[in-house]
Amino acid sequence: MSFVLNFLSNLARQRILNRYRALLPAIRRRQQALRGSDPAALTATLRQSAEPSLVDACANVLVACEQLEGQSFRILEENVVWRILPFDSQILGGLVLFHNQVAEMGTGEGKTLSAVVAAYLSFLHKRKVHVITANDYLAQRDSIWMKPVFDKLGCTVGLLAPDQTAAQRQAAYRCDVLYATASALIFDYLGDNGLIASADQRLQQGQDFAIVDEADSVLIDEARTPLVISGRKESDLSLYTKLHKPVLEVHKLQAKYVAGLETAVAEAVDAGNLAHPELGRNLYLIQQADPNNERLQQWLMESPIRRKLEEFQDKTEGNSHATAELHNRGYYSISQRDHSIHLSDTCQEQFAKLLGRSLVIPDLSAQINRLEQSAQSDEEKQRQREALSIEMDTVASQLNTINQLIKAYALYRRDIEYIVRDGAVVLIDTNTGRPLPGRHFSDGLHQAVELKERLRMSPESQTLAETSIQNFIRQYKCLGGMTGTARIEADEFLDTYKLDVIPIPPHKKCIRRVQPDLHFKSLDAKLARIMADIRQVHAQGRPILVGTSTVQESELVSARLKALGLEHSVLNAKNHAREATIIAQAGRRDAITIATSMAGRGTDIKLAPGVAELGGLHIIGTTRHYLRRLDDQLLGRCARQGDPGSVQFYISLEDDLLKEAKVPVARYMGFFKADDAGIHHLFINKVVEETQEKFSGYFHAARRQLVAFDNIVSTQRQQIFAMRNDIVDGALSSEQLLHEHLAELQAAGKSCLDWFKHTFPISFKQDPADAPAPLVEIYKEAIGQCAAQLGFDKKAFDRMVLLGNLDEYWRDYITALGNLKEGAQLMSYAQTDPVTDFGNKSAKMFIQFLEQYRNTVFKRVFPAVAMLRQQQPRRR
Ligand code: ADP
Ligand code: MG
Repeated sequence: MSFVLNFLSNLARQRILNRYRALLPAIRRRQQALRGSDPAALTATLRQSAEPSLVDACANVLVACEQLEGQSFRILEENVVWRILPFDSQILGGLVLFHNQVAEMGTGEGKTLSAVVAAYLSFLHKRKVHVITANDYLAQRDSIWMKPVFDKLGCTVGLLAPDQTAAQRQAAYRCDVLYATASALIFDYLGDNGLIASADQRLQQGQDFAIVDEADSVLIDEARTPLVISGRKESDLSLYTKLHKPVLEVHKLQAKYVAGLETAVAEAVDAGNLAHPELGRNLYLIQQADPNNERLQQWLMESPIRRKLEEFQDKTEGNSHATAELHNRGYYSISQRDHSIHLSDTCQEQFAKLLGRSLVIPDLSAQINRLEQSAQSDEEKQRQREALSIEMDTVASQLNTINQLIKAYALYRRDIEYIVRDGAVVLIDTNTGRPLPGRHFSDGLHQAVELKERLRMSPESQTLAETSIQNFIRQYKCLGGMTGTARIEADEFLDTYKLDVIPIPPHKKCIRRVQPDLHFKSLDAKLARIMADIRQVHAQGRPILVGTSTVQESELVSARLKALGLEHSVLNAKNHAREATIIAQAGRRDAITIATSMAGRGTDIKLAPGVAELGGLHIIGTTRHYLRRLDDQLLGRCARQGDPGSVQFYISLEDDLLKEAKVPVARYMGFFKADDAGIHHLFINKVVEETQEKFSGYFHAARRQLVAFDNIVSTQRQQIFAMRNDIVDGALSSEQLLHEHLAELQAAGKSCLDWFKHTFPISFKQDPADAPAPLVEIYKEAIGQCAAQLGFDKKAFDRMVLLGNLDEYWRDYITALGNLKEGAQLMSYAQTDPVTDFGNKSAKMFIQFLEQYRNTVFKRVFPAVAMLRQQQPRRR
């Protein structure tokens, strides 16, 4: 079935590509005809046409390139002579990009220029273009590199770089084509919609057309977490210090409890009594209580023991009553999948005693419902509602602090999830192993880890604005992507971004030799063979690129090479610019380069003269990565543009990937005769592939959930952003807001006048009519007078009052939403779908938010006037 589907969609893709291919002869003919003419002049003509001809436009880019041939340009540190006369495949790539698709083109095929073709086409259609690159270095390089073509075509190019001033950024956004990273664009987008105080501070002019380079990395891998602008929060960290000791106590008690379980398991295992009735359950309990437990990991290496655990899991998983009972053993249980903590009753009681209060989160919506239905006065209801939400906040923050402290002790391991450097906690990207300075664990986990490491706690940060990459990108009216590895993720490109993947054949036949993977029993045996192979290939003078999956592994390989006296360079994606220069050298005779999967992305490895004759670049993959796509990226670095090249991957049963395999690896031990002999076994190959598929599915599901949650927030965010922009632009006045509010009261059968009298310190001789319109008039006059007395423009005054309160409320609201989301995720044990649950609850919360916001604004308008009056004499 899926084969048939695949076949059909391949056919459809082929047909699309053929349609573009059919344009090529005309484009080449037109190129001949235009040769020598001024590309900028043709641009001017084409820009006037409602439907500019694709053929003319592509031909014009070709002519511009031709006219540059032989000229020398300075690109960063280098002088580069222009030799790019685009191949047909590059034009096809440009057409694919322009038509809302992902162009899959191998490394070195010249995607940078394909982006220019698509950008130029969009420019002719009067759309602003953002070319999104994988990092700042590439944005800078590509904008400088491609500028001569854009200049010839009469199209302006800009760049977003870190450390630019607001004026420089504004100028960059005015260019026809802008090169930037996704995070730079999102940062400005959130700033424009959530931080600026007046319209002239706005940077962006909307989301028109985006071309995303390294699309899998930007749109898929980086899209695992939302992008956040945060500020310092005025917060009280004493709760952490207060709870630290009791949590440590509990952690120690838990260790004792786990030790008891370990002894029980060890007795059964040592006695060879795997049929012991408690064995599976005890293993399960250890996993719940201490997922990183070392003895457990060792036991699970042995397949009969592992099977016991799996049998037990299968038996209990469907039974929510039984799992609930098991999670109540010990002090806490941890779900490794979503990192959530469940405190047992015993543990909750202990903390309740210490804090003098129960730690159960009240069911807010039920209580509010009950309150609404009670016969109390509106004011009393309001007061109780506020008291309830304060109560809720307190319990939630205590619970959160306890959870984060437990996580810091039980889940986050120094030197694996984070390192301590210069008195600070620095995160490690568990995918690539590189440190991520400047990034923080969120929601107080960072402070908890700092406390555990006896470091000074950094101030808590608060989210000021956030969005998922997916929802930001989907705002672009048109979108195109390019990368060497897209097919594997075709489903996700389609569901998430409505992008079809069109593979474009290389302009020269690929002659890469990919040898079957070599399998080893132990890590040591694997490394020994890798060293032997490096020596052998190096002796032929061929350059070698060693791709590792983590920084630690790079260092391990590097140390071994040093011991052998082999010179080499190591890259680990810390300094993109410097690494690009190093990796560009990786194709020289005798060169040995070690790199993690992200290092030097975007820079292609050219073979030095004579190297092709030796067999080209040889690539060594020291293990298989969790994602097949990243293996393919590595593989794609050799044999570019028809060059020769070869690839060999190695994997041992002790590698992380195989540890994660569903089938216990010990089962394969029998395949290996001598300890050091590498073999290729089809069965292991299959397990590797299946495990990679499992991970890719798991990551995909996690992103799908992230988007599902963010979609809900996004609707609300768009509404607030629109309102905020109206306020900034002076298109929404406080009278309008007041009118809305009064109309709602009236519709609900409540008295507008009562509310009005309670809210505003305005007195009148005679009660006006109880209706929105006359009351708004009274308000308008009073506030207009105040503003005039203070020498304020009424609009500026409105903006100040409306904006300040909106931002304050919205930030608190985002935090509350975050808590609600976490709560919904915890509820996933129960039968409800967490996303639906979150959707329902947050919809109610949003209505309350708007109502409260308006109430507060009007309560604060006149006090704000009073405050300004007091400040004024001092200001003069
Ligand atoms: P990709 O992004 O697809 O990996 P690049 O755009 O970085 O590839 O280009 C790779 C190399 O190929 C660059 O050095 C570039 O100068 C060269 N190149 C690109 N197009 C052509 C062309 N049409 N003719 C000759 N060299 C080209
Ligand atoms: Mg590139």
